[in-house]
Amino acid sequence: METGRFFITTAIDYVSAAPHIGHAYEKLAADVLARYWRNRGAEVFFLTGTDEHGMKVAQAAKKMSVSPKKYADEIALKYQAAWSYLNIKYDNFVRTTDPSHEKFVQEFLQKLYDNGEIYQGNYEGLYCVGCEEYKVQEDLEPGDMCPLHKKKCESISENIYFFKLSKYQNQLMEAIQSGQLVIEPESRKNEIFKFLAKEPLRDLAISRSKVDWGIQVPWDKTQTIYVWVDALLNYITGSRGLWPPTLQLIGKDIFRFHAIIWPAMLLAGGYELPEKLFIHGFLTVNGQKISKTIGNVIDPIEIAKVYGVDPLRYYMFREIPFGGDGDFSIDRFEKRYQSDLANDLGNLFQRVLVMQQKYGIEWKYAVPEKTFPEINRAIEDLKFNEALNLIWKMITEANQEIDMERPWELAKTNPTKLAELLKGLLVNLSEVANLLEPFMPDTSRKMTEQLSTGHFEPLFPRRK
Ligand SMILES: [Zn+2]
Repeated sequence: METGRFFITTAIDYVSAAPHIGHAYEKLAADVLARYWRNRGAEVFFLTGTDEHGMKVAQAAKKMSVSPKKYADEIALKYQAAWSYLNIKYDNFVRTTDPSHEKFVQEFLQKLYDNGEIYQGNYEGLYCVGCEEYKVQEDLEPGDMCPLHKKKCESISENIYFFKLSKYQNQLMEAIQSGQLVIEPESRKNEIFKFLAKEPLRDLAISRSKVDWGIQVPWDKTQTIYVWVDALLNYITGSRGLWPPTLQLIGKDIFRFHAIIWPAMLLAGGYELPEKLFIHGFLTVNGQKISKTIGNVIDPIEIAKVYGVDPLRYYMFREIPFGGDGDFSIDRFEKRYQSDLANDLGNLFQRVLVMQQKYGIEWKYAVPEKTFPEINRAIEDLKFNEALNLIWKMITEANQEIDMERPWELAKTNPTKLAELLKGLLVNLSEVANLLEPFMPDTSRKMTEQLSTGHFEPLFPRRK
């Protein structure tokens, strides 16, 4: 990474449903990285937003008997409120119904059209509204069923426009192989490379003649722009001229859009490719895919109201290795809350501050100077659970030191050693507070405040 600059994007969420814990997972990961780099003094830009066009949104609005725009307004607000509640500090929130976004999308497509990258043709095939994706038979289950949505795909026959995606096949393979476009984890890079090497890419249908809720094709008013093409361009319209991003976080379900269609569009439009795509897995709840039908949709705000925002942030990144799939279980969460937060960290903090007061140890808080390269590397490599494991090792060692050195006895026998021990522990806690900031910003702030004032309040109060 170029030092001093960190531009991160998340996927923009589709406003056909309110935010759930799966949406929050990716934004929280981006927030951890953005905070980390801000603390390192980098110039950070964190972009997120909402995807608001397409048939799925139009259908959801119709169900509520409101206009698609009004519906999108309401849901976009819910997303913004949720991210604010979870202490996710983004720098820009793009809505694909923003007039400036719509204008750019039209200009971008017009340029591709003028350069001969787009042609008209007839599309006969299948389309899943749930995925907002054109499908081929190989992707589907018998009876033209979408394997993700368990719904029969619509059959479409329309005269529409195509982007010459096939033209970019070799260039994409070269970009991925040479590392011009880095894809992580490695297994994902290999997967996409194999896919590209297997067979010729088909050109991409980029408009619809029968979907009203979308951006008009600038040279043909009878057509709207395919919602994915519209949505992908948010990364440029939201970038405030800072293109290209350092890192784009992407869920595994939309990986191919981002590793094939997206870079091909950028190449066609004359834009630089992003430096890195990182593909993460899904969060399941109690072992099952998050779904309204299953009834396991968890509202992250409801959880945060009961347990606090920081414990939720902590649990997601301590329990689940980022990248693979992971499970959210209230049971496991409760255990982590009690053992890691209330006992290990909360009790340590209390014990040390109470002893400092009780034994009258003179100590003044200072911003810790020691660096922790191993923890830094883990965060930079998006191995958040490893970083937290290392921080918790420091906490465990501090607890063990107290048990071994028995300060309550030193108070009677060796006051000099007691003062040394407690000052050392206070420095350890200052370091822990600092290291925890990206993951648990509020707790980190509380710890630093209390270390500065010596006034103690429980970090993780017992829940009633
Ligand atoms: Zn589908």
